[in-house]
Amino acid sequence: MQKTITVLPGDGIGQEVVEAATKVLDKVAERYGHQFEYRYGDIGGTSIDKNNDPLPQETIDTCLQSDGVLLGAVGGPKWDNLKSGMRPEQGLLGIRKALGLFANLRPVTGHESLTDSSTLKKEVIEGVDLVIVRELTGGLYFGEPKERREIDGESGAVDTLAYKKSEIERIVRQAFEMAKVRRKKLTSVDKANVLETSRLWRETVDEIKGDYPEIEVEHMLVDNAAMQLIREPKQFDVVVTENTFGDILSDAASMLTGSLGMLPSASIGSKAPGLYEPVHGSAPDIAGKGIANPLATISSAAMMLKYSFGMLEEADAIDNAVAEVLRNGHRTGDLAKPGEKALSTEEMTEKVIDAL
Ligand code: ATP
Ligand code: MG
Repeated sequence: MQKTITVLPGDGIGQEVVEAATKVLDKVAERYGHQFEYRYGDIGGTSIDKNNDPLPQETIDTCLQSDGVLLGAVGGPKWDNLKSGMRPEQGLLGIRKALGLFANLRPVTGHESLTDSSTLKKEVIEGVDLVIVRELTGGLYFGEPKERREIDGESGAVDTLAYKKSEIERIVRQAFEMAKVRRKKLTSVDKANVLETSRLWRETVDEIKGDYPEIEVEHMLVDNAAMQLIREPKQFDVVVTENTFGDILSDAASMLTGSLGMLPSASIGSKAPGLYEPVHGSAPDIAGKGIANPLATISSAAMMLKYSFGMLEEADAIDNAVAEVLRNGHRTGDLAKPGEKALSTEEMTEKVIDAL
C-alpha cells in the first residue's frame, strides 16, 4: 500500500522521537512491501521561530492531504512568555480543531518485564491490554453556560454538562469499530444513576450494539471503573466514556505502565486523517541529548497503521518488537534502574528495528 504521512516533529525531544518512529516505519514498509511517503510540517515553538506562527496554514493543508499525521511534541520554556502572546500549544489545539478530532484513544499495555520499575504488582500488570476511548469535543469542558453567578444569595459558579445524541453516537460507533479489531469487548463508562447525560449515553450504546452482535457490551459506573482499572485492569478491552471521565480515567490508567516515555495516543476524526502522538511533552530537560525514550512515539506509529491504515499485522509486529526489546532487558534512561546501562534513543530504535 502507498500512504502519505505528515510528520510534525515540533519541539524538544519531539524531533528525536519522531525520527526514531519514521525509521521503524521504514523497516515495516520494507518488510511488508508498503510505501510510506513523509511530508514534514512546522508546528509549535520551532514554527513560531521560523514562521512567526505556531500553526501555519501550510501545515494544516499538508495534514488534510495526508493519510495520517505523526506528531512529536510542542512547547518549552523558550516560548513561555513571548511578547507576541503566541504559545506553542496553540499549534496543537489548532491542529486538533482543524482535523475535527472527536475521539482520543489511549492504549495501556502492561509489560510484565517493566514491573520492576513500577510500583504495581506483576499479577496486576501481566496481560493488561486495554484502550480508553475518550470523547473530546463535548461535555462539561465545553457546555454553556459556564459562568460565575449568584446562587441562593451567595456567590457561585456554574458549568454545564451537555451532550447531543449525535456526539454520543459517533464516539460510541468509533469504540465499537475498535473493539471489532481487538478482543471484542466494550465497556461503556457513565454515571447513569445520577446524570441525565449518562442515561442518554447508556440508551445510545444499547441502540448501537444491535449493529455489532459480535461485541460483548457492559455498562459500568465511573466510580467502579476507577477502582476496577487499578484492581484488575486485565478485564478491560475497549473502554468508552465522555470527556471528563475519560480525562481522569486515562491519566489514572496510564500509570499502570510505568513511564511517560512508554505511552502512545491517537486522536480520530470523522473524515480527516488521525493524529498520532506520544502522551509525553517536549521534555526540555533532556532535549538534544539523544537519550529520550522513543517507544511512546514508535507505539503511536503502530496505532496509525492499525486505526488509520487498517494494517493490523504490521501494527502487531511493531508492538511485539517493542515487547521483545523490553523483555530482553533493554532500557532507556527513564526505565533503567540505578546503575543499569541505559540505551540512547538511537540504540533503542535499532533494537526495535532488529526485533522487527
Ligand atoms: P507538557 O507540558 O508538554 O506536558 P511536561 O514538562 O509537563 O510537558 P514532559 O515534557 O512530558 O512533561 O516531561 C515530564 C518529565 O518526563 C521530564 O522530566 C521528562 O524528561 C520526562 N520524559 C518525558 N518524556 C520522556 C521520554 N520520551 N523519555 C524520557 N523521559 C521523558
Ligand atoms: Mg505536562
